[in-house]
Amino acid sequence: MAKNNNSGVHCSFCGMSKNDAQMLIAGDGAHICDRCINQAGEILAEELKQRKSKTLQTALKLIRPLEIKEHLDQYVIGQDDAKKVISVAVYNHYKRLNQKVDKDEIEIEKSNLIVVGETGTGKTLLAKTVAKILNVPFSIVDATVLTEAGYVGEDVESILTRLLQAADYDVAAAERGIIYIDEIDKVARKSDNPSITRDVSGEGVQQALLKILEGTVVNVPPQGGRKHPDQKMIAVNTSNILFICGGAFDGIQKKIANRLRTQTVGYRMNEDDAEIDLKNLYKYITPQDLKSFGLIPELIGRLPVLTYLNPLDKETLLSILTVPRNALIKQYRKLFEYEGIELKFDAEVYNFIVDKADEFKLGARGLRSICEAIMLDAMFEIPTSKEKTNQKELHITLEYATKKFEKSDIKKLQVA
Ligand code: ADP
Repeated sequence: MAKNNNSGVHCSFCGMSKNDAQMLIAGDGAHICDRCINQAGEILAEELKQRKSKTLQTALKLIRPLEIKEHLDQYVIGQDDAKKVISVAVYNHYKRLNQKVDKDEIEIEKSNLIVVGETGTGKTLLAKTVAKILNVPFSIVDATVLTEAGYVGEDVESILTRLLQAADYDVAAAERGIIYIDEIDKVARKSDNPSITRDVSGEGVQQALLKILEGTVVNVPPQGGRKHPDQKMIAVNTSNILFICGGAFDGIQKKIANRLRTQTVGYRMNEDDAEIDLKNLYKYITPQDLKSFGLIPELIGRLPVLTYLNPLDKETLLSILTVPRNALIKQYRKLFEYEGIELKFDAEVYNFIVDKADEFKLGARGLRSICEAIMLDAMFEIPTSKEKTNQKELHITLEYATKKFEKSDIKKLQVA
């Protein structure tokens, strides 16, 4: 029971006297000591963490594939096939998480994904947007920096460090997060012959990824870097983390074409299949093609959902520029709005930007660099000059855009 000391003020929670406490804070007819403040802080943090996990669970139940796709539609243009596949895979994944495992029940396997498509077509954007919709921690890692443990480069565990950081070190939240592994094609086995020298950055990494993708408990260095005897490790279970791998798989089209050719020799395919879309062979990709590209079968097996992204044609690029909720043009308008300036574009400017992006073959990523080249001078000068000139509007004409574009260094980006 709180000791009520007559000798003056005491903490209204634990009864500690003013003399014994380091600090006593006065409120309306009550006092609280430093120790009780700390304890209350800890209780509060723990309670908020638990509430967050509960909200996460209820939120996950509510989002159905159609809703996921509708959300994706707001941010990602086109790519309907991939969106559908991803929505279902993600839904099933979180259904699996909510499954109460009892002995008789069929255990649902993890639906890790692999997304194949040219650079800048929206692979990362899709993964990032899914994580945002579900409100789960998300991190991106580049497979090219990973090496087998003990070699120069980052250990595969570092993937989890990033996710932990994204989750603010809330392990429970991280364990339900999404990790996007970019450039998975770059760790493909270089040749079909197992070589004498170890392939530490290729097959070695694929091997190291297997366990993490499937589900295991990994001791993760919280600050990243090499495992250090003094560093306190955090145990993270990867069973419920959803992995999405992405890659351009340059050259895989040839393998797909070869396979299609051998399949069709001697007989005609179904009427429906007769027309093969040669411009977009990714559409026909199968796990077998990934294997001939150099992914090991065990890894392919742990990425059971395979989907593709279409290359972006000019029409799609134009939509990307102007339509999504956070379309580039909308972002520039907003930036200028903060300056009190209305930004206007002539329609030809959009076509100019799209034509150049198409020429540069950088997918939608090129749009941003081209817009920056056009807008940089205005963004640099206007914040200072607007007061003198009392400028209220900026009108970007085709002539203005062409002039700024020609003046910039951007042409260096052009892919030969
Ligand atoms: P990658 O396929 O190389 O991972 P990203 O997803 O990083 O490509 O795309 C690069 C940028 O291009 C994104 O930030 C996004 O703004 C834009 N983008 C690419 N594809 C689309 C798309 N289908 N819809 C909307 N924006 C897109």
